Parts: sequence; C-alpha cells; structure tokens
Amino acid sequence: MSAFTYRDGVLCAESVPLEEIAEAVGTPAYVYSSAEVEGAYHDFAEALAGLPATICYAVKANGNLALIGTLGRLGAGADVVSEGELRRALAAGIPADKIVFAGVGKTAEELAFALDCDILQFNVESLPELELLNRIALEKGRQAPVALRINPDVDAGTHAHISTGRADHKFGIDIDLAPAIFARAHDLAGISLQGIAVHIGSQLLDLAPFRAAFARSAALYQELRAEGFPLRRLDLGGGLGIVYRGEERPDLRAYAGIVREATAGLDAELIFEPGRLLVGNAGVLLTRVIYLKEGASRRYAIVDAAMNDLIRPMLYEAWHEILPAREAAPGADPLPVDVVGPICETTDTFARGRFLPPLAAGALLTICSAGAYSAVMSSSYNARLPAPEVLVRGDRFAVVRPRPDHEALISQDRMPDWIEGESPRRSMRSGVT
Ligand SMILES: *Cc1c(COP(=O)(O)O)cnc(C)c1O
Repeated sequence: MSAFTYRDGVLCAESVPLEEIAEAVGTPAYVYSSAEVEGAYHDFAEALAGLPATICYAVKANGNLALIGTLGRLGAGADVVSEGELRRALAAGIPADKIVFAGVGKTAEELAFALDCDILQFNVESLPELELLNRIALEKGRQAPVALRINPDVDAGTHAHISTGRADHKFGIDIDLAPAIFARAHDLAGISLQGIAVHIGSQLLDLAPFRAAFARSAALYQELRAEGFPLRRLDLGGGLGIVYRGEERPDLRAYAGIVREATAGLDAELIFEPGRLLVGNAGVLLTRVIYLKEGASRRYAIVDAAMNDLIRPMLYEAWHEILPAREAAPGADPLPVDVVGPICETTDTFARGRFLPPLAAGALLTICSAGAYSAVMSSSYNARLPAPEVLVRGDRFAVVRPRPDHEALISQDRMPDWIEGESPRRSMRSGVT
C-alpha cells in the first residue's frame, strides 16, 4: 500500500494534498511520508521476527535527521559510512551501541572519532585499514570491535554501478584471503574480532544472489569458529530492492527464510543494513512545469527540478514514475513528452517519450520513489538552491530541511585577500573609464 494516493482527483501524501505542500514551500521540493517509512520498517522487522537481529538503517540512503529519527523511534540502529553520517545518526538520537561504521576509505580521524563514540562495530574492508584501526585503538588504550567485510564474489544481478559483491569490485576482503586476514586480526591487541560482514549491492529484486552470498559468509563463519576465532556476529548488509516501475517487490518472508536457512545453528547475532527498502518508496520530488516546448519532432516539459536535485536517472539510467498532482480529466489522451530540467546538459532529462496527460505550464508533477539516494545526492550545480524537504504525518506536515537562500549559498565562498585588496582600485579604474 502506498501513502501517495489520489483522493478526489488530488494526489496526497497520507492526508495532505501535494498541491498544498507545493504552495507552502515552493518547488522543487521533496516530500516524505512517515507512514510509509514506518510501514516499511515494520514489514521488514516482522519478517525477521524471532531472529536475533538488529536493523541498522543505512543512513546514506537518506540522511535527513527527521527520517533517521523516525526510524530510531521504532528501534532501528544505523549503518554509517562517514564521520558526518555518524554525527547525524547520533544527533537524531540513535544510540552509539546500535551504530556500525562501513566504507572502504575511512580516514584515521574518522576511525578515532568513531572509537571515542563507542560504536557497536567497525566493518573493516582491508588489511591496511585493520592495521591503522589497531594502532589508533592501542594509542587510546582501547580495543576496536571489528567485523571484517568479505567480498563473496557473487554477482548481485543489479545495475553495474550499484553492484559491490564481485571479486573485481573495490569492496571487502576477497573471500579466499579472508582466513589469513582473520588470523592477523586475531593477533592485533587493539582489535576485538566480532564477526563477518557482507553486502553485495543495491536494488536487488532477485533473492538468489543473497542466498549465495549468505551461504558463503555462513560457511566461512563456521570454518573460523571451528578454528577457534571468537566470532559472535554476522552482518548481512542491505540491498533489498523497491518498486520503481511495477517490479515485483522482493518477498521479505522469502528473504527471511533464506537468512534462517543460512544462519541456522550458527549461534550468531545478526545485523541488517537496509537503506533503500526503508525510505525509497516513502519520498517524492515535486516539480512544476515552467514551459511546454513543441519541437519539430518532440515535445518537452521543462520543469523546475533538475539533475542537481535528483541525479538517479542520469547516473544509473533509473526510471522514476511521474504522476500529475491533479488527476487528468477523463478522456484526456496521454501524449509522449520529454520531461527535462533547466540545466545546460543534455543528460538533464528525467524521462524521454513519457506518456503523460496533456500538461500546461504551471502543472505540478510528482516524481515518485525518490526517498532514497535522491535528496542526499543533490548539489547546487548551476547555483541552484537545494530543494527543501518536508515530512508528512497523517494530516500534518513539517519542513524538515528548509530551502537555503541565495545569500547563504554565496556566503559559503570567500574572496582571497589579493582580490579583495584590489577591488577598490578596480572599482576606481572602472569609475574613470
Ligand atoms: C549502501 C549500503 C547499504 C544500503 O544499501 P541499500 O541497497 O540501500 O539497502 C548497506 N550496507 C552497505 C555496506 C552499503 O554500502
């Protein structure tokens, strides 16, 4: 069930008409539904019921404090990939002992900060990272809780840009090298070896790659335990896909069944790191048509959102459903239109030849499934103001990130003194000519 439905011909987020939000905050704007986020979390938690599982929301999917906080209230932990995300998770109220720190390139400063925070676990991805973390922990007279992220050499069967689990990807420690590195980790006094982590990619719709990756991870876990390594935790990552274009939603019970099968008898605590699954279908991007342009061969709807607001179509060739905020009059035949942004890049295109009801300038459109990897990837390219973010709950909504003003954006930059120092002379000169 979606929280975004037409009521009396008007598209609503829960009970709030999107047109009302667009009028209040302007466009483009992101709108999220609390109910959808909570529903996604409950569905996942329910499927895993009975397993010793901690669900650590992958903050990189959407780092807005209000969304992290919504999930935190339900009991979620966090999976973070930078000091900034760690600080966000803490600021949103996630307890440090429910936070795992992932990523191939954690810096010394980030490792030290996370150690000071007493997080649950570092998911270490290489030997040099392990050795650095060991040194930092020893300097602090501490032990760092570590899971080694292995690369199980499994093809996730998803888009190449969001696949992470094959041997030729930069992520994790090759499964064949893992036993030697576990032995090394075991010898390091600053490292407390806790377990194995695996994450093979994102937007997986087929469960077979999970089955393969979990089986390999579990076999390694068993082998290492038999050799006497004191492992206690298996982190099975994220990656479950969502609906963008009528795909069949992965069956969470079947996923949980695969987990149960792979981990039966392991006596391991489990961690899951879903990101997209929890927030992807909970967000939309609102945008208004600025111009309708009739080309010789194509029609364009030039909208006020652009690739700086939502880059997924350009980066991953992603398909996003586009719905008019007001339902088309009966009998209005859909026409093919290219929905494009105002940026001077041909790739600034949300959809080509999309069949939409006849549009007029000013029409409000809704770009769907934009809760994950959307606002977080935005930029101010073309000196465009980042879109605000709004969270709906029932019949209420709150701006959870306002649109900055131009002054705020411009004042991020500084003139070096050699330009500032010259400016009076320059203005004098220009005054003379
Ligand atoms: C990105 C990422 C996730 C979340 O992936 P989703 O596809 O959004 O569930 C989880 N774990 C790690 C290590 C990641 O890099």
